[in-house]
Amino acid sequence: MSILSDFVSLFFPNSCLGCKEALVKGEEVLCTHCLAELPRTNYHLQETNPIQERLFGRLDVKHAWAFLKFRKSGIVQHLLHQLKYNNHPEVGVRIGMLFGKELCEQGLDKEFDLIVPVPLHNSRQRKRGYNQSAKFAEGLSTSLTIPWDESISIRKKRTTTQTRKSKLDRWENVKDVFGIDVAEKILNKRILLVDDVITTGATLEACGRHLLENNCSSLSIACIAEAQ
Ligand SMILES: [Zn+2]
Repeated sequence: MSILSDFVSLFFPNSCLGCKEALVKGEEVLCTHCLAELPRTNYHLQETNPIQERLFGRLDVKHAWAFLKFRKSGIVQHLLHQLKYNNHPEVGVRIGMLFGKELCEQGLDKEFDLIVPVPLHNSRQRKRGYNQSAKFAEGLSTSLTIPWDESISIRKKRTTTQTRKSKLDRWENVKDVFGIDVAEKILNKRILLVDDVITTGATLEACGRHLLENNCSSLSIACIAEAQ
């Protein structure tokens, strides 16, 4: 990305957030080329997948998917950067809508009653202005026509970044940070818990356990991307 293209996109906001080409009529957030090029995992088409395997024995999930493959310096990393650090919440909504549409095509919209995003700590959410996982939830909700609620799962403690931590340290860092606000809201509901990137799955495990302990009827997972 050059300074010039950053400058241009400042004045022409209707450019693709993947490649900065101008969007044409009917295109939203991402151009047709970038949409086609998104590195999909297609895990929702498979009987079992690496996300389920990653969570096996740790979290009892019905479905577990990541929509895209995260590669260093690839388009997914770029889009997640736009979503998390460049004030582009619409990226999360757009990707959620896309994945939701693909789930609908397989009849998987019938599998859930409520979408719950992994919460951010209040201080971080205030700083960013929104929760990126909630934006993904919002997009999924639009396509799946299932409600989403970001008030259910709460983050009690602020954690340090997981980026450079080992698997064990990641778990120690998150195991006690989540809670449930109003447990009745998830009682007997089939929950789709959503997050941005899955790495070891420690965050989803810690957050998901509270949902199971508070008697949701089933738990499934959907992430924007899977890190290797
Ligand atoms: Zn593009």
